[in-house]
Amino acid sequence: MEFELIERIRAHCSLVRADVLLGIGDDAALLAPPAGHELAVSTDTLVDGVHFPHGAAPRDIGWKSLAVNLSDLAAMGATPAWALLNLTLPQADADFVDQFAAGFAELAGQHHLALVGGDTTGGPLAIGVTVLGFVPAGRALRRVGASVGDGVFVTGTLGDAVAGLYCTQARTAPFSNLGDALRAPLLERMRRPTPRVAAGIALRSQASACIDVSDGLLADLGHIARRSGVGIEVDAPLLPASPALLRACDEATRIALQASGGDDYELAFCASPAHEAAILRDLSRSGCGATRIGRVVAGAGVRLLDAQREEIVLTRAGWEHFA
Ligand code: ADP
Ligand code: MG
Repeated sequence: MEFELIERIRAHCSLVRADVLLGIGDDAALLAPPAGHELAVSTDTLVDGVHFPHGAAPRDIGWKSLAVNLSDLAAMGATPAWALLNLTLPQADADFVDQFAAGFAELAGQHHLALVGGDTTGGPLAIGVTVLGFVPAGRALRRVGASVGDGVFVTGTLGDAVAGLYCTQARTAPFSNLGDALRAPLLERMRRPTPRVAAGIALRSQASACIDVSDGLLADLGHIARRSGVGIEVDAPLLPASPALLRACDEATRIALQASGGDDYELAFCASPAHEAAILRDLSRSGCGATRIGRVVAGAGVRLLDAQREEIVLTRAGWEHFA
């Protein structure tokens, strides 16, 4: 039965790459990384009911389990190449595996990524994905590297994914009562995040530090600040929002979601002002665009500022009506 499931996955994920000398079917894969490059390797596990809602569409789970991993490669400026898939399934459900693999393969195909192995076991539903990619030697983007005077930027828009999550929950007004025209784009961002792979590659020679926004903008910028030994100021009025989010809620709610909501999988990065014009041009070509949202300062920690440069403190209480 396990063999049959693996065959199903293999049938969906059939992309061929010359650098896969031996893929699924032996005791280990044999891979040939290109000369002059480093391997970027990352792994992330998604657990049913924790990282996706219980009962989520298997196709979306397949997509998202790869997307969150590709986002980590994007944040390093790596070009994705290979993946491993560890599936833990409550039962040998061929239909689930077909749908899951179709969603996984859809995103893998967009990035010319080959599935080269994995493991299939029984237990509560969980998906572990490992991705491998290439980066020219010494050119990876890291959390360390931001310096005082750099601008702080983010790709795309922030806040949609957590707003999408609230759309699926009760007692999360206004999100639980939105009409379909606003709900649909927010839900899509939660179910099918877009890893900013092309943006990460474009930033390789231009950003001083980079991270993907998975836990929330302020929390993730906090990692850059700590690792780089600097402080970061974020201007709340500059945070980029989608048209749907702008219409869905009031400004204070929106800023709280944009600054603290996770799961957007945009890239947050720092860069010297000398690179700003080229970055904004390159990222608008890469499709997602980028916005300058703040600056790197001396000191420590991340501060969110309003238009008068007063600090906005996001208290737990500010979230209570969503709880
Ligand atoms: P072994 O017992 O030697 O670990 P398995 O039966 O677990 O072998 O796996 C056989 C082959 O199928 C291996 O190449 C393995 O990498 C691949 N494989 C197993 N599960 C998956 C999966 N969920 N996705 C992709 N490849 C898988
Ligand atoms: Mg095995």
